[in-house]
Amino acid sequence: MPDAPSSAVSSAASSAVSSAVSETANLTAACPPAATPSGGDGLADDFLVRFWGVRGSIPTPGRSTVRYGGNTPCVEMCCGSQRLVFDGGTGIRLLGQHLIRELPVEGHIFFTHSHWDHIQGFPFFTPAFIRGNTFHIYGKVAPNGASIRERLEDQMLHPNFPVPLRIMGATLVFHDLEPDAQLQLGDRVMIETGMLNHPGEATGYRVTFGGKTVVYATDTEHYPDRLDESLLHLARQADVLILDATYTDEEYWSPTSSKVGWGHSTWQEAVKLARAADVKFLVIFHHDPVHDDDFLDRVGAEVQTCFPHSTMAVEGMVLSLRPEGVQVRL
Ligand SMILES: [Zn+2]
Ligand SMILES: [Zn+2]
Repeated sequence: MPDAPSSAVSSAASSAVSSAVSETANLTAACPPAATPSGGDGLADDFLVRFWGVRGSIPTPGRSTVRYGGNTPCVEMCCGSQRLVFDGGTGIRLLGQHLIRELPVEGHIFFTHSHWDHIQGFPFFTPAFIRGNTFHIYGKVAPNGASIRERLEDQMLHPNFPVPLRIMGATLVFHDLEPDAQLQLGDRVMIETGMLNHPGEATGYRVTFGGKTVVYATDTEHYPDRLDESLLHLARQADVLILDATYTDEEYWSPTSSKVGWGHSTWQEAVKLARAADVKFLVIFHHDPVHDDDFLDRVGAEVQTCFPHSTMAVEGMVLSLRPEGVQVRL
């Protein structure tokens, strides 16, 4: 069971979350049946994770990436009738197309940080333009003092984009998260946050619902001489860990094109972390733009050898957290 809500929740976030709780209590629509494996009926206790974008850094359309997908990060979690969305990369546009079939919609959108690949889909998230929809938007204040609202607003200003955020017709409620904040949505969804090791900072999220826990941790770089204690704590005994593993060790340590300090990890380090944290199921996420489908097939096979309860993230993939374990539907 989740811990009790923490006093680490900022007062602003706390009051807003309280209002979100009362609003969501009236929701009757469950997360979409389309997200339910084998055409299930979206039961109130279902915990589903759907991947709308799995690619890091920049979208990669094309024939060589069609199987794993080219959209940048966006992961939806359906906790019963509560919809949580993580990051607004180009994958969130597809989620938006899905949601407009069931208006009005309400959701909670959590941003890890505001590098382009995690926010560039947000201006194309159609439900945010439609009056009657409500989205609670969460993120940490950037090191330069910019709030999550400002971070999203800035990318939509002239001359870089023609439509400002204020044109969005949905009710958007912004929540600035304190470091290590804990939130509770309704009385059944618990969210913990943790700092990740990334240039400009990033926030990881740990979601617990119905006795199951899913951790979303991207973008983050391992340390050469030790495990990341913050990440280890965030991922502790998670049922599912979705983890940045952009590179292979060989690429990361390449003498000619080292990736040290770029803010991303390797699949070998992801396996090491998953073992140390006693994670039950590992998802390799934030694929490098230069890794085509065949390359990712090979990485996936190697990860399987080292950590059998694992999968590569694939656009469109749905995970269902069942009492007997994680069910994967591609
Ligand atoms: Zn990224
Ligand atoms: Zn980043």
